[in-house]
Amino acid sequence: MIDTHAHLERLCDIDKGIDKIILAASDVTDSKNNLLLGEIYPDKLLVSVGIHPMESQDSPAKLEKIVEENYQKIGAIGECGLDFSGEFDKEKQIIVFKKQIELAQKYKLPLIIHARKAVDEVVEILKEYKDLSGVFHCYAGGNKRIKKILDLGFYFGIDGNLTYEAGLEEVVKNIPKDRLVLETDSPYLTPVPFRGEINSPKNVEYIYKKVAEIWDLSFEETEKIVDGNAKRLFGF
Ligand SMILES: [Zn+2]
Ligand SMILES: [Zn+2]
Repeated sequence: MIDTHAHLERLCDIDKGIDKIILAASDVTDSKNNLLLGEIYPDKLLVSVGIHPMESQDSPAKLEKIVEENYQKIGAIGECGLDFSGEFDKEKQIIVFKKQIELAQKYKLPLIIHARKAVDEVVEILKEYKDLSGVFHCYAGGNKRIKKILDLGFYFGIDGNLTYEAGLEEVVKNIPKDRLVLETDSPYLTPVPFRGEINSPKNVEYIYKKVAEIWDLSFEETEKIVDGNAKRLFGF
């Protein structure tokens, strides 16, 4: 099993059943921490660095420096994107997002996209660039935007809310099997049966189980497909 999106401060949460965890970053400090953790557990962790759209006051120049100095240790850029669910400066978000797309392009790294109430806007921006790859993490674009994302060549990240959110099951049915990756977004989005508790990567198992049920495949077959997707996307 691979958890393709988790926010961790320590590795105490990692269990044997998890082959790899992709550490998502929300800001420059996070990015530095992820690099430190990645050095301690290079086989277990894949490091992402980035600035979340809600942290767009953070410095893209500092992030650029981090990438320049550490690009061999970095497996992805993000999470980055647009979040129009609240009162955040949209222009600033777009500038910081575009800087990160340029970094991903320059260093040939996949993007971990955070798009909230802004999937269409993110797609339009990504279409301006060539040779990008990445995932719409915690995909929340519904059925009607699946084709747009497929056309971009991007993947769909699905989280623990699949175990309790009506409608998401239908979305998963409509995503081609070779474009789906699974993630916990720990410490958030804890799946059933642990809702209300702090999430950790080991709980990704419950999302795999739910997908196996939806696909009508065994757990092993599901794991093989989903992990194959994650390896292809993140190149390990
Ligand atoms: Zn996010
Ligand atoms: Zn996240």
